[in-house]
Amino acid sequence: MHVAVIGRGILGASIAYHLALKDVNVTVIDVHNNNSNATSNNFGCLNVYNYEPDHYFFLRQSGIEYQVRLASEINAIDFVHQVGTLRWAQGAGTHARLVEGICRLEKHGVPFELFEPGDVAKYLEPGLNPGRVVGPVVRVPLEGWSDGSRFSRCLLDAGGSHIANVSAEVLRYATTRRGVSIDLKSATIQADKLILAAGIGIPALMQHHGVKIPVNAEPGVMFISTSAAQGPLSHVIYAESLHFRSHSPTQVIGGHHGAFVPNGYNAEQEAALTAQLVFELYPSIKAGTAEPVLGIRPVPEDGFPVLGWLDERRRTYVATTHSGITLGALLGRLCASEILGAEDELLKHYRPSRFNKV
Ligand SMILES: Cc1cc2nc3c(=O)[nH]c(=O)nc-3n(C[C@H](O)[C@H](O)[C@H](O)COP(=O)(O)OP(=O)(O)OC[C@H]3O[C@@H](n4cnc5c(N)ncnc54)[C@H](O)[C@@H]3O)c2cc1C
Repeated sequence: MHVAVIGRGILGASIAYHLALKDVNVTVIDVHNNNSNATSNNFGCLNVYNYEPDHYFFLRQSGIEYQVRLASEINAIDFVHQVGTLRWAQGAGTHARLVEGICRLEKHGVPFELFEPGDVAKYLEPGLNPGRVVGPVVRVPLEGWSDGSRFSRCLLDAGGSHIANVSAEVLRYATTRRGVSIDLKSATIQADKLILAAGIGIPALMQHHGVKIPVNAEPGVMFISTSAAQGPLSHVIYAESLHFRSHSPTQVIGGHHGAFVPNGYNAEQEAALTAQLVFELYPSIKAGTAEPVLGIRPVPEDGFPVLGWLDERRRTYVATTHSGITLGALLGRLCASEILGAEDELLKHYRPSRFNKV
């Protein structure tokens, strides 16, 4: 069998790797050679906290556990950091949400620890000054972060000679009696099956298919500190709406939920404001400056992954999610087994048919 995959991000790479493990020949096609996709520009947290409903929480939990296992199989342990997260609230509203999250961890049997705010600087993160904290500090050892870009490269390398890479834009495709015909600018590729793992490129590709999969392109701004911090942070930190972690032994990367800059999108200003707030909590880099990093994330309209066949003859399959760093490794395995004929119970909540009748 020959399978073509559009997209060399974490989803495409993971699907290709898991197909290659089953001796399937895979051609991965991507218009970009550089680091411009969502998999290369993101915060990279592996997280479950406060996700619902239960099936989605379980998928994320399984996603982290599987990625940690897979990392040792594909020589990627340096890129998956299960270091734990620290979370705290600074206001009554966010405190209630924090407590909901604790209840959810308990319900799913995910281990956690509660600390006094004063313990953060004393025992957990000596460089931090968390400021005003309402309620406990929660540590979740399951969570952490992953370098999606390097992890994806390891997946493609581990697929060996079963995976061929083509650098080109897919203009359109058509299903035929025998399989799928995929048009690039100066060539046409024939395959038995085609997988759309093209992130924000999916809606444009779907125009020729006659099926609508609503995937929005949502920009997110982060900052990377350019001046040295004294020693790396051990955990990923979620302080109210801010999140940050070590990017390298001396640099910090961070972002926030909700825009600071009203009426328009100014990446530099947003990054600078986020960095300023983080530096207040992390005084060892107080005097530092920050570079903005812009990432564009594929976000299915209802926030849940979209995974499944697009046509009755099972020639074309779509795979996308707004949390690919947490879910990509596992989804690659589950999607690959569906592409080879199995139906996976875990994926039944995420079918494309919820948007269209296919
Ligand atoms: C700011 C930010 C923070 C994030 N934080 C987190 C986080 O903390 N935790 C988490 O789990 N996730 C996070 N994400 C989301 C995560 O990065 C994405 O869900 C994931 O990277 C998506 O991977 P993908 O393989 O589906 O898509 P991508 O990585 O975008 O790859 C799709 C590829 O398809 C290619 N392509 C598209 N159209 C075509 C075409 N017509 N022809 C050829 N090639 C094409 C593109 O070039 C691209 O390389 C974040 C994202 C952003 C932007």
